[in-house]
Amino acid sequence: MENPKITTTTGDESYEMFWNCDACGTKKLLGVTHRNCPECGLAQNANARYFPAEGEAVALKNHVYTGADWACDGCGNPNSSKAKFCVSCGCGNEGAKSVTRKTSANTSDAAPGQQSTQTSPQPVMPGAAKASSSGSFIKIGVIAVVLGILAFVFYPRTDTGVIKSHNWEKVIKIEHSVAKTETLECANVKSNMQVRDMKFVNKPQKMQDGESCKDVCANSNVDQGDGSFKVEKKCKQECSPKYVTKNVMIKLCEVEYPEWLMKREEKTAGQSTSDKMDWPNPTLQGKSTSGYGEERIGRRVESYRVQVERKGKIENCEIASLDAWRQFQVGQNVTLKSKVIGGSYCP
Ligand SMILES: [Zn+2]
Ligand SMILES: [Zn+2]
Repeated sequence: MENPKITTTTGDESYEMFWNCDACGTKKLLGVTHRNCPECGLAQNANARYFPAEGEAVALKNHVYTGADWACDGCGNPNSSKAKFCVSCGCGNEGAKSVTRKTSANTSDAAPGQQSTQTSPQPVMPGAAKASSSGSFIKIGVIAVVLGILAFVFYPRTDTGVIKSHNWEKVIKIEHSVAKTETLECANVKSNMQVRDMKFVNKPQKMQDGESCKDVCANSNVDQGDGSFKVEKKCKQECSPKYVTKNVMIKLCEVEYPEWLMKREEKTAGQSTSDKMDWPNPTLQGKSTSGYGEERIGRRVESYRVQVERKGKIENCEIASLDAWRQFQVGQNVTLKSKVIGGSYCP
C-alpha cells in the first residue's frame, strides 16, 4: 500500500525509570521516587537510568511533569526542573544542561515498561560448524563422482572402419488443411476464423471489492528526563484488497478455421555421390468444394549417409556436410568416434 496511515499516540500514564546504585549495588531504584539511594544515600546518577524490563514497570500516580532534570555543573547531580539550586552541592542552575535521555527501540505491541534489549546472537552448538563442513565435503564428493561417471560415459572412444557405400535422401513434407472447430470468447476471434454460432453465458469473475485494513502497532518507551517515562504507541494501517466473485455475461463464438496437418511426404533418394540429387517436385492438390483439403509444402529434410563396416557390423552414419560426404571413397579406411558408451561409431 502506498502512503500507509501512521498514527502515534502517547499514553497518559507515566512510569518510573529505574537506576542502580553504584555505591552499594542496590538495583531497580525508582527514578522519580528515589532521588537518593534509600540504602546508602548516594545521589541518583541520571546516566544510570534505564527502562524497566517487561512486566516490571511501576506506574506513577498523578505524576506532574514539569520538564527534564538539569544536570549540576558542579557535582553532576540531576535536579528537578523546578529547583533553582542543586540539592546536593548548592550550585545554581544557570547554564546547566538537561540530563541525557535514554532512547528505546521499538518494542512489540505489549505491556508498557518493556526495555529495548538487543537480541543476542543465536548460540552456536559445538560441532554444528563441523557438521556443515563435512556436509559440504560429501557434496563435493558426490559432484566429483557424478562428473567422473559423465566423463566416462561421454569421453570419445575411437576405432577404425571401412566405408562400404553412400546414400542420400531429400524429403518434402506435404501438409493439408482440415476444418477445425473451437468455441472461444468472441473478442478473441481471428480473421481466418468463420463464426458458426454465438451464445451468451455467465462466467464467474473475481473482482476487487474494497479492501480490508488492520492496524499493526509497536510500542516504544519515551524518557521524559525527570526519572519517568511514557509509552508511545505507533500504529501503521495495513490494507489488502478484498475480492468477490460475480457473474459476468460473456459472448461465446463457435468458430471454424483451417488447420494445417502433415499429410504425406515425397522423396528422392540415391546411392551415388555423382547423382544430381534434385528435390522432389510434388503436385499439390487444390481446395475441395468444402473449402478444405488444400495442400502446401511443409518442411524440407535432406540427409547424406555413409555405411561403415566395423568389427563385421555395418553402421549407418549421417554426415553433416555434403562436401565431407562426397570426399568419402568406398573401400577407404576411416577413423571412427563414438561419443557415448554403446553409441554408434561414425567418422
Ligand atoms: Zn546505595
Ligand atoms: Zn551539584
